[in-house]
Amino acid sequence: MPTYDYRCPDGHHFERLVPIADRDAQSCPACGAACARIPGAAAIGGVASAGLSREQMPQTWKGTGGADREYVRHLRHQWDGRQRLEEKYPELAGDRRAVLAHEGRYHDTPLRVGDTPPSAPTPPAED
Ligand SMILES: [Zn+2]
Repeated sequence: MPTYDYRCPDGHHFERLVPIADRDAQSCPACGAACARIPGAAAIGGVASAGLSREQMPQTWKGTGGADREYVRHLRHQWDGRQRLEEKYPELAGDRRAVLAHEGRYHDTPLRVGDTPPSAPTPPAED
């Protein structure tokens, strides 16, 4: 049986050895609330951190501290490790489709290749 990581709505965190069939129906041992399984945690067993996901990586010049060499090297190292993990555990990779738009109304949910763009906003009526 695999071990899964859970976090309840109150923030209690625990690990539990459960059959795969029961992995999504666990309740918090501290407060009894239904818990969300933390994805991928079982697969990463033993590794301290899976590193930043593609979405969490700095995307801008500013995000890398003006491309500070030490920081970029650190990121690259972290990213290499992450890529190796993603090769082994593809579910960590998430959505890899290219992002077409990520500003304005797409800030929270980037528009990706294959997505249907929400209908264009109605232009203001002209007199
Ligand atoms: Zn709880």
